[in-house]
Amino acid sequence: MNGLRQFLFQMSNMMGRGLYGRNGFDSLARTCYSAALVLMIINLFADNVAIYFIWVILFGYGSFRVFSKNISKRYAENEKFLVMTKGPRSYMNLLRLQVRDRATSRYFVCSHCHQQIRVPKGKGKIEIRCPKCGERFIKRT
Ligand SMILES: [Zn+2]
Repeated sequence: MNGLRQFLFQMSNMMGRGLYGRNGFDSLARTCYSAALVLMIINLFADNVAIYFIWVILFGYGSFRVFSKNISKRYAENEKFLVMTKGPRSYMNLLRLQVRDRATSRYFVCSHCHQQIRVPKGKGKIEIRCPKCGERFIKRT
C-alpha cells in the first residue's frame, strides 16, 4: 500500500516536472485528444485508413500542444479556438443541460440576446420574458 502510494507520488512528480515550462492541457489540446479517442474507437470497427490518419494527426497535434514550450503562442491559438467554437460549445452545453433536466425543465435561447432561459416543464403555452434584455416570446413548455 505504502509502496503504491510512493509510486503514484513519484509518477505525478515526474509528470509535473515533465510539463514544467510546457503548455500543458489546454482546451484545444483536450478537444484534439477527445476527438482522437472517439475516432480511434470508431476505427476499431470501421478500420478505415482515412480515420486512422485523422486520429493520429489529432493525437499528434494534441501532444505537440501539451509539450510545447512556446506558451504564449499556444495561448493565443487556444483563445482563437475558444472564440471560434463559442457557438457550438454553448449549443452543446444547452443540449447537455436539456438532457440532464429533461424531467423538470426546458431551456430556451432568447432570439434577441442569446441568453439561455430555463423554465419549468409542463406549464403549457406561456409567455417567457428574457431576464437579460426583456424580450418576450411565447413557448410551449
Ligand atoms: Zn434576451
